Amino acid sequence: MKKRILVTGGAGFIGSHLCTRLLNEGNEVISLDNYFTGNKKNIVHLLDNPYFEMIRHDVTEPFFIEVDEIYNLACPASPVHYQYNPIKTMKTSVMGAINMLGLAKRVNAKVFQASTSEVYGDPAEHPQRESYWGNVNPIGIRSCYDEGKRAAETLFMDYHNQNDVDVKIVRIFNTYGPNMNPEDGRVVSNFIVQALKGENITIFGDGQQTRSFQYVDDLVEGFIRLMSTPKGFTGPVNIGNPHEFTMLELAQNVIELTGSSSQLTFMPLPQDDPKQRQPDISLAKKELDWEPKVQLREGLVKTIAYFDDLLKNPNK
Ligand code: NAD
Ligand code: UDP
Repeated sequence: MKKRILVTGGAGFIGSHLCTRLLNEGNEVISLDNYFTGNKKNIVHLLDNPYFEMIRHDVTEPFFIEVDEIYNLACPASPVHYQYNPIKTMKTSVMGAINMLGLAKRVNAKVFQASTSEVYGDPAEHPQRESYWGNVNPIGIRSCYDEGKRAAETLFMDYHNQNDVDVKIVRIFNTYGPNMNPEDGRVVSNFIVQALKGENITIFGDGQQTRSFQYVDDLVEGFIRLMSTPKGFTGPVNIGNPHEFTMLELAQNVIELTGSSSQLTFMPLPQDDPKQRQPDISLAKKELDWEPKVQLREGLVKTIAYFDDLLKNPNK
């Protein structure tokens, strides 16, 4: 059955893939975005579809629309961008959640929150299960994002418990793929762009810190599966690829796959940078029958092709 679906942050990296997938499944999709880190170019090709609309709006302001489902993705995700205006980042997470939950309550829509592995902070438990409460600095440079997302989770559960709103919460682990912003500052896009330009690859710290990288198609599949669970299954559910890599290993893979002659350069590690991160995905396997299919090198090849094309055709 065709559903009308609102995607906040629809012009962003993940949002653009989600809009495409939901349209391909025969739904009507409305993208809401203020284009802070997103780009119209990510979704402009969808405008040919009569069931797609894009709206410029800031999620911190109330928004009224009749929809069946809401995916709330609006929030800058890269440390460079969420630290640019930390007060705004917090407002986006908290007021954005309140506005979307209020809308869901009024129109009886199902509402989905894009939360993050950052709710675990610099984790003392490894790998991270959903039951782990995290190790987050409440007053550091990452707090606007981490605590904003934690407060949003609280709001989602409170609207569920107090007002019976049908909520779904996903905790996303580091995701990469086409449509990432080349200026984004995240590690995968930085390394690929640096390698393709033959510039030094910037390793923060000694490069021994780890992350577990997931390709965007796997993530979107997890979103769809979580959204189709029965009312009452709220999550949070970890969605990520448990294969863990050091930043040095990531850099080596990128150099090899691009055939680049770039050298490594070591820079200071940012404050509160988590040392390790790996999802425990038992819950997603059990409840969603989900596990990632695309492994790092396969996903990197597709992402490198995207950035290569973008750098060669900047006005496309
Ligand atoms: P992104 O920056 O590409 O997308 C975020 C989108 O939200 C952008 O289009 C931006 O313009 C929009 N936006 C920001 N503030 C807004 C506001 N106030 N009003 C309306 N729109 C606003 O990032 P992404 O990687 O696509 O992330 C999407 C969501 O997934 C975010 O909520 C992020 O926190 C979450 N997430 C992403 C990752 C990841 O690795 N990519 C990991 C964990 C969580
Ligand atoms: N990082 C790096 N070089 C860069 C960008 C990031 O070594 O040019 C490191 C960063 O310090 C962190 C990891 O890569 O340890 C992942 O950073 P990213 O900003 O992509 O995501 P997050 O820290 O939010 O997981």
